[in-house]
Amino acid sequence: MGLSRREFLELLGCTTSAVVLPRFLGLGQIPEPIKVALAEQQKYNNIPVIWLQGQSCAGCSVSTINTVHPDIASVLTETISLQFHPNVMGGTGDLAVGMLEHAIEHLSGEFVLVVEGSIPTAEAGAYCKTGEKDGKAVTTEEWVKRLGSAAKAVLAVGSCAAFGGIPAARPDVTGAKPVSEIVPGATIVNIPGCPSHPDWLIGTVAHVLLFGLPELDEHKRPTMFFGKLVHEQCERRADFENGIAAEDFGEKGCLFNLGCKGVETYCDVCIRGWNNNVNWCIRSGSPCIGCTQPEFPDFAGQGIYAKLPVEKTHGIKWTGPYAPKAAVKG
Ligand code: SF4
Ligand code: SF4
Repeated sequence: MGLSRREFLELLGCTTSAVVLPRFLGLGQIPEPIKVALAEQQKYNNIPVIWLQGQSCAGCSVSTINTVHPDIASVLTETISLQFHPNVMGGTGDLAVGMLEHAIEHLSGEFVLVVEGSIPTAEAGAYCKTGEKDGKAVTTEEWVKRLGSAAKAVLAVGSCAAFGGIPAARPDVTGAKPVSEIVPGATIVNIPGCPSHPDWLIGTVAHVLLFGLPELDEHKRPTMFFGKLVHEQCERRADFENGIAAEDFGEKGCLFNLGCKGVETYCDVCIRGWNNNVNWCIRSGSPCIGCTQPEFPDFAGQGIYAKLPVEKTHGIKWTGPYAPKAAVKG
């Protein structure tokens, strides 16, 4: 009985085995079913993707795997050729790390590098290493420099890769840096979020494939996802305007008094939602913590739940009964 491309990859647990092994070994050395899978991928001209992890919790990987439209099996079989991913690839050891050298030597200018997590630079990058070369561990900083310089485009996924994020929060003992500071000359798209939304990454990859790079804002974020303030689209905006404030988490009313960062944060989950639009941050009773902003999570030492100064409200005056004093004066 023959297997379809999808059935074959599902048989492998949707890992990258079917992609990594044949490309590394060469067609002559591989079993017939894997040749079939590779031939299918080549037929569809899937774009090669290398996914590196620096200082991350792998949350952006988990979020991406939860993509619904299209589902992850369709992405892996019909859109991209995922050649390296620390969590889901089937290859290990020299075989897996060899894919990184293979991309640099044979796929220069053709592959997309996705980086999840910030890159530690203190102690010569010793806080994060990926694989070995000649018996010595290789820093992730070195891989990002080499792969980033050879890639067609670099997608910094999640706020840690895009802006430093949680590893770069004070006191930042590891010298955590965003990808843009490691390979400043590369073509970089930042797709922040803690985690990033699966639609943001899949949508950006699709845009790169179909139309080239998307329009970016001053922080290199695609404006199609990060073009509007949360506050502009928030379903509790009327409460803000009327001074109806939640005084505790989970209460009805605007969450400004609980530190909502929606007034200075650009993100579209207010209309997109999480988990196939089941819910989103503010609807669930939590303030927006500004996870897509470069200031996240420190916010100049204030942290994610400190109330923003009134001048951060873009000229909107808070005049209701629970208004902060400064806002009433303003
Ligand atoms: S401050 Fe926050 S909760 Fe209030 S309207 Fe703006 S985004 Fe919504
Ligand atoms: S609404 Fe705020 S906390 Fe929620 S994903 Fe967007 S930026 Fe992050």
